[in-house]
Amino acid sequence: MIKNNDKNDNNITRLLDDEPVGRTVQVVRVMGGGGFRQRLLEMGFVRGAQVTVIKNAPLKDPVEYMIMGSHISLRHSEAAQIEVTDKDAEFCDMEDAYNGIVETTVAGVDPLADNVLRVALIGNPNCGKTSLFNYVTGAKEKVGNYGGVTVDSKEGWFTIGDRKVQLVDLPGTYSLTEYSPEEMYVRTYIRDNHPDAILNIVDAGNLERNLYLTTQVMDMNIPMVVALNMWDELEKSGDKLDIEMMSRLLGARMVPMTAYNGHGVKEVLQATMDAIDESEQETLHHNVNYGPLIENCLKELGNMCPELDRYTVLKIIENDQHAIELLNRQENGEQVKKEAAEMRQRIERDFNDDITSIVTDLKYGFVRGALTEALTPNPDRETGDTKPGYSLDRLLTNRWLALPILLVLMWLMFEATFTLGAYPQGWIENGIAWIGEWIGKALPEGILRDLIVDGIIGGVGGVLVFLPQILILFFFISLLEDSGYMARAAFIVDRIMHRVGLHGKSFIPYLIGFGCGVPAIMATRTLENHRDRLVTILTVPFMSCSARLPAYLLLVAAFFTAKQGLILMSIYLIGILVAALTAILMSKTFLKHDKTQFVMELPPYRKPTARNATIHMWSKSKQYLQKMATVILAASIIVWALGYFPRHEGQTPQEQIENSYMGMMGKAIEPVVEPLGFNWQMGVSVLTGAAAKEIVVSTMGVLYTGESDADEESTSLKEKLQTATKANGEHVFDPIVAYSFMLFILLYFPCIAALAAIRREAGTKWMIFEIFYTTGVAWLVSFIFYQVARMI
Ligand code: GDP
Ligand code: MG
Repeated sequence: MIKNNDKNDNNITRLLDDEPVGRTVQVVRVMGGGGFRQRLLEMGFVRGAQVTVIKNAPLKDPVEYMIMGSHISLRHSEAAQIEVTDKDAEFCDMEDAYNGIVETTVAGVDPLADNVLRVALIGNPNCGKTSLFNYVTGAKEKVGNYGGVTVDSKEGWFTIGDRKVQLVDLPGTYSLTEYSPEEMYVRTYIRDNHPDAILNIVDAGNLERNLYLTTQVMDMNIPMVVALNMWDELEKSGDKLDIEMMSRLLGARMVPMTAYNGHGVKEVLQATMDAIDESEQETLHHNVNYGPLIENCLKELGNMCPELDRYTVLKIIENDQHAIELLNRQENGEQVKKEAAEMRQRIERDFNDDITSIVTDLKYGFVRGALTEALTPNPDRETGDTKPGYSLDRLLTNRWLALPILLVLMWLMFEATFTLGAYPQGWIENGIAWIGEWIGKALPEGILRDLIVDGIIGGVGGVLVFLPQILILFFFISLLEDSGYMARAAFIVDRIMHRVGLHGKSFIPYLIGFGCGVPAIMATRTLENHRDRLVTILTVPFMSCSARLPAYLLLVAAFFTAKQGLILMSIYLIGILVAALTAILMSKTFLKHDKTQFVMELPPYRKPTARNATIHMWSKSKQYLQKMATVILAASIIVWALGYFPRHEGQTPQEQIENSYMGMMGKAIEPVVEPLGFNWQMGVSVLTGAAAKEIVVSTMGVLYTGESDADEESTSLKEKLQTATKANGEHVFDPIVAYSFMLFILLYFPCIAALAAIRREAGTKWMIFEIFYTTGVAWLVSFIFYQVARMI
C-alpha cells in the first residue's frame, strides 16, 4: 500500500492511504461526493486539518487515524479518497477564517406556552449526555463508551427552584445534516417539539470537533447553553481554557462540568434556566459570521422566507434536500429555490470550491479561530504513545495478539459467568426447594397446592436461579463498553466483518445481542447504510442472548462434566458462525453488497466506573425480575394448566401429563422434533419458549415436576433431567440430545419482543421472513448434528 513514502516532494498532493504509520499530514481535499464525503468533512477532514496515521488494524485493514484530537478508523479504500500534503506545506491560511459573530434579534417567546419547560440534550456521541441525564433525573439509562448507545430519546424530570423541567436525552450526533437516522431524529425532534432551551454538551478535551455541532445549533435560534463536560480530563491534561473569552468569541454561554460526579451540574442547570428566562424578552442571538458574501445571501433569502430559521436557510443554499422539501409548503417556494441555486453558484465561483466544503471549512475555521485565542495547550501534554491507555492499546490491537486476546476475553466472560455464578445459584436453588417443600407440607393436597408448587415455583423458580449468571454477564458487557474496548473490537474484526459483507461497526450490535436482542436491534440504528442495517438486524438473533443462557446452563451442568465453559462457548460460536454464513448468503443474493463506508470513532480508553456497572446490572436485574413476575409467571401457569387438565382419576403423574392438553400438543408435534432427538416435552418447551426463551426452562420445570414421586419433590430440575427415562427404560437425555437441543434453542424463532423490534426497525415482511428463516435453520442444524453424531 505504501507506494510513494520516500518521494516526499514539497507541495505535491498524495493520498492519505499511501502515508506510512506515524506520519502527520495536512488535508487538501476529500474527493468523491455524497453522504460519506459530507461525514468526512464534518468529522474534521477539512482543508488544512492535520491527520496522523496511528496504526493498521491487526488484519491490515482498517487504519486508525487521529484528527482533531480524536481517533477514528477508516478503511484503505476510504482513505484513498482523501488528498493530503506535507503538514507544513503552505497552501491556505486557516487563521483568517475567523470572521467573528453576527447577531440576530429573536422575538421573545413564552416558555410555558405548552405548560412544560423542556430542555433538550444535544451533543456528539460519547460526550456524556446520558451521564448527565442520569445524574440530573436519577434515571438509570445505559451509559457506554462508544457512539450510538442512545438511539432513542429518553425523557426525565428535574426540579430547580420551584420549577419542574423536562429533560430529553437525544441520540449523539456529529452534525444535524439529516444524513443518518440519529441526525434525522434530532433534527425532527427540535423542529416538532421546539424545546425551550438546548443544553449542548461538549467534550472539553476535544473542543474543535465538538464545537462544530455547536455552530449548527447556534443557527437554530433556540436559547442554548454549552456545558464543557469532562472538565476533569481537561484539567488533568494541563490545557488551559479561558472560558470567558471563549464564550465571548463564540457568542454562547459556557459552563464547565463533570457529569459523572456532578461537579458543575447545578451551575449548568441554572445557566439554562437563565437562558430560558431571558428568552421571554426579545434577545440577541449569536451566529457564525460566514463573511460578507454568504451573510448577504442569508439575509436576502431569510427575508423571502421569514418563518424559517437561519440554519434551514443556510441548508437551502447548501442544496440540502430535506431543507428544500420544506419549501414545497411555501407559496414562493419555487422562487426561493431558484434564488438559492443562483446564490450557490455565485458562492462556489467565488470560493472556487463546492458549497458543502465551503460551509464546513468556514464553520471549522470559526471554531479554530476562537480556540487559537482561548485555548492554551499544555506544551508537555502527553500525546500519541505516551497518552494514558496507549501501551495497553498497543497490546490489545497488536498484530498477532489482538484476535487471541479478543477470544480469550470472551471465553473468560463465559467461564466466569458459569463458575462464579454457580455459587449464588446454588443458594437460590436451595432456597426455592425449601420454599416449595414448606408450601407442599403446609397446604392441603389439591389443585391449589399443585398450582403453587408445580406451576409457579417449578416454572418461575427454574428460571429465577439464573439471575446471578445474567448479572455477571451484563457486568462483563458493561466493562467492555465502558473501557472503550468495544470499539477496538470493532476495529479489530472489521476486516472479518468485511468478508461477510458488513462493517466492523456491526460488531457492536452483535455484542449487545449477547445480552439482549432488543437493544441490539435498536443499536443497528448507528449503521448508516440501509443494507448493512437490515443484514445486521436479521442476523442479530443468532447471537445467543442471555434469556437462552438458563437453558444452556441447565443442560451443560446436567450432561457435560468436563470443559463446561468451552461447551458453552461453542454454542455461542456456532451462533456467530450461522450469523456470518447468513450474512454472506444475503450479501450474495437478495441483499447485494454495495460499498459501505463509515467513519468509526475510537473513543479514548476510560477506567470503567463501579457506578456505571452497578447501574447497568441493577437495571438488568430489575428487568429480569419484572419479566419473571409477568410473562414467565403467566406462561408457567398456562403451561401448568395445560399439563394438569383434563383430570383423569387414578393415573400416575406421568400418565396424567401425557394425556393432558399439553401432552396432546406435544404428541402432535412429536414427529417434527423426533428426528432432532427430542421427546414431546422438549417439543412443547420449544413451543412455549417462543414467547420468551427463559420459558423453555420453566416449561421443563413444570413438565418434569409432575414426574417425580412425592418424596423426591425437592430434587432439582437438573437431577430430574438426568434421571428421566423413556418408556423402554433408556435415558431421555444424553450429551448428544442435550447439545442438539441447545443448538435448536440457540437458532430458532427469536422471542416475541425481538420480533416486535425487528418489525419496528425493518417492517412486517422482514419479520415474517425472520420467523421462517431462523426456525428452518434451527431444525436443519439440529437435524444434521443429531443424525451425524448418532452415526459416529
Ligand atoms: P453519551 O453517548 O453522550 O450519552 O455519553 P455517555 O453518558 O454514555 O458517556 C460516555 C463515556 O464518558 C462514559 O464512559 C462515561 O463514563 C464517560 N464520562 C461521562 N462524563 C464524564 C466526565 O465528566 N468525565 C469523565 N472523565 N468521563 C465522563
Ligand atoms: Mg447516551
